[in-house]
Amino acid sequence: MLLRSGILTSSEGEAVAVDNATALSGFVFVCEHASSTLPASAGTLGLSAEALSSHIAWDPGALAVGKMLATKLDGTLVHQRFSRLLYDCNRPPESPAAMPEKSEIYEIPGNRDLTPAERYARTAAFYVPFHDQVSREIARVVESGRQPVVVTVHSFTPVYFGKQREVEIGVLHDADSRLADAMLDASSGGAYRVERNSPYGPEDGVTHSLRLHAIPYGHPNVMIEVRNDLISNTVDQEIMADHLAALIVKAIDVVGTA
Ligand SMILES: [Zn+2]
Repeated sequence: MLLRSGILTSSEGEAVAVDNATALSGFVFVCEHASSTLPASAGTLGLSAEALSSHIAWDPGALAVGKMLATKLDGTLVHQRFSRLLYDCNRPPESPAAMPEKSEIYEIPGNRDLTPAERYARTAAFYVPFHDQVSREIARVVESGRQPVVVTVHSFTPVYFGKQREVEIGVLHDADSRLADAMLDASSGGAYRVERNSPYGPEDGVTHSLRLHAIPYGHPNVMIEVRNDLISNTVDQEIMADHLAALIVKAIDVVGTA
């Protein structure tokens, strides 16, 4: 049976999942690109198996690191259960990148010439419930008298358009750089090559979730991008999550929220 969106079946379940919903800290972790799963109704979007498992479909390793961070810092994690190829939840509906016809070197035939009804159905199926859930989790923190801290967790491909990327961890921010500044300060001299607004920045439209959920309300926020070759197995994911958790804790001490 198709759910009301006409995209997901009831056996495929909800678009959004929440981990650690009873967390006691103010951290709300967000993973928009957690999954490469396509619902049956989407077919393959005309893509090869290689493209469907590549970074254009999801952020490899990001969900695992997000879950570890939520556990280590007693935060909540909201994650999307389906591929960003259908809807990129870190983009608003009016953005061409929300349902991209092309991603890096890959054409996406199944996203070509979408009708307004198709665009609306995808928005209703993936984007709206996702951001409603993030809003609810932030509201729960506020109602409990704590200060929400919004941290989005991503990974990026080491090779983009054939070019090797040297940055290992990107600390990204938009207009409110408090948490990012403190994380960058805490990173200096550390084990990884950490850069501000790299390999993307707000000019690339990647701070949508921060702009939607944190900046208008003054909630400290940051977007973390980890090069995905550094988080390709559980051992490395634990090492990275420990490193990021320590950075976040140091930064929160400076920013002065919990
Ligand atoms: Zn991402």
